[in-house]
Amino acid sequence: MDSYATIFENNKKWVEKKLSEDKDFFKKLNKNQQPDFLYIGCSDSRVTAEELMGLGPGEVFVHRNIGNVINTLDMSSTAVIQYAVEHLQVKHIIVCGHYNCGGVKSAMTAKDYGLLNPWLRTIRDVYRLHQEELDAITTEKQKYRRLVELNVQEQCINVIKMACVQESYLEHKYPIVHGWVFDLKSGKLIDLDINFEKILKDIQKIYNLTGTDWFKYH
Ligand SMILES: [Zn+2]
Repeated sequence: MDSYATIFENNKKWVEKKLSEDKDFFKKLNKNQQPDFLYIGCSDSRVTAEELMGLGPGEVFVHRNIGNVINTLDMSSTAVIQYAVEHLQVKHIIVCGHYNCGGVKSAMTAKDYGLLNPWLRTIRDVYRLHQEELDAITTEKQKYRRLVELNVQEQCINVIKMACVQESYLEHKYPIVHGWVFDLKSGKLIDLDINFEKILKDIQKIYNLTGTDWFKYH
């Protein structure tokens, strides 16, 4: 049986398994979703969303693209964030990158990638912002790993630049934005300990879209 045909077989088994664990599983699933998390990750087939977090259907709202990039002109990712914040009222937004990311590697390569050029440009911009630190790293492997981490950090900042995130945080104290890296070699998630409050404070002068001093009242 080819890999395509096995999918429907797998689905049948999955339904049976879920029903044997909880006969109302799909009844519950059919109700409204109320996830606490928005996960923004890479499209890479080796980096799943729910599975690596040990979460199931209904528990995480997901957006994935090449290199886990948040670009202000990309309607898809910004619409996902706005919906997750305003309608689902997620408590946490996670940007998750991964070592060995083909998108990040391509952004480090002097080559014309056609349609992918404007997409990868956002990652090349991350390199430029941190050029001094990256150029001081002597091995290509370490430089590559560090760019993966810095890309996550900068995409977290891009999330925080959005008005809906700022306004919700001012009113409710959520969502909190987190930056993670998934290590394919060990399967472990690494929390980059992004200092959300500090980033908010630092970018306030330029990117405050709320008309309010965020820290005057907190
Ligand atoms: Zn990737």
